[in-house]
Amino acid sequence: MKVLVATEKPFAKEAVEGIREIVEQAGYELCLLEKYTEKAQLLEAVADVDALIVRSDKVTAEVIEAAKNLKIVVRAGAGYDNVDLAAATQRGVVVMNTPGQNSNAVAELALGMMIYMARNGFTPGTGGELQGKTLAIHAYGNVGKLVAKKGKALGMRVVAYDPFITDAYVYENDGIEKVDTVEELYAKADYLSLHMPSTAETKASIGYEKLMSMPKGATLVNTARKEVIDEEGLKQAMTERADLKYVTDIAPVNAAEMAELFGKRFFATPKKQGAETAEANINAGLAAARQIVDFFVNGVTRFQVNK
Ligand code: NAD
Repeated sequence: MKVLVATEKPFAKEAVEGIREIVEQAGYELCLLEKYTEKAQLLEAVADVDALIVRSDKVTAEVIEAAKNLKIVVRAGAGYDNVDLAAATQRGVVVMNTPGQNSNAVAELALGMMIYMARNGFTPGTGGELQGKTLAIHAYGNVGKLVAKKGKALGMRVVAYDPFITDAYVYENDGIEKVDTVEELYAKADYLSLHMPSTAETKASIGYEKLMSMPKGATLVNTARKEVIDEEGLKQAMTERADLKYVTDIAPVNAAEMAELFGKRFFATPKKQGAETAEANINAGLAAARQIVDFFVNGVTRFQVNK
């Protein structure tokens, strides 16, 4: 049984060592394709593997087609919009993610970004504090929950909205306020932190109207996906309102223009860093390897996303 780790952006060394240990202990062979630059390298590497572990790497229909023995793909991370689920399902390939394994890393980055923006990108001059401000969480999943908890610890008032988590008890239990509409959420937000997946429904769903409804001096924080933003709408709102700020872990297509237009009111990390900690790499990488072994040995499909 061959397990391929294909990572354009490799895992931390300790994570690869841990994956190797799990895979080899199960009696399987580990193959590594790191820092590849051409799609052809990936197509060649998948040709005879039974299982594939990826990070943000694109697992297209072409890749699935080239992987004749493939039975399972695990995306080491939360979002799986980089895997062609329809193509995998059609071939009977199981696709899983590793939910929760990198959430803390992403949540810490979100709070760090808020502080960075509150302090004017660490340039001289008077900034602001997070304490006492309202932190609004849009999508209350693994990352959203941790951002809420950390925001509370900093003395923020935390409100949240998630169309799929409607039980008030969940929010009460975490000591935060549930709001019932997305409009209410944006109207309250000094800091609005995005934590929804990129789906047909969420694509380009955050734009002009939502931005314009935010309070004076509000900051939009995006550690979710660039696709959820309507970039033209965002640009328009920030042009009309000189008090709005946008900070993102996923640079928009028009990043250079945004930087030019909005200076310190806009910041994008040079490369997506939410899950880029050794801890998150190890957690997600090892979970991916364990899930593969559990799938082959016990038929466990708990984290399958293409059921
Ligand atoms: P999760 O699955 O635990 O939570 C996602 C939440 O989004 C769920 O509670 C779900 O109910 C909610 N949701 C689904 N559709 C929605 C909609 N239409 N409107 C509002 N909410 C909706 O995922 P997570 O681990 O919290 O991660 C959230 C997202 O963050 C991922 O999908 C991924 O895109 C992104 N992410 C980014 C990085 C990074 O490196 N910056 C790392 C990990 C995850």
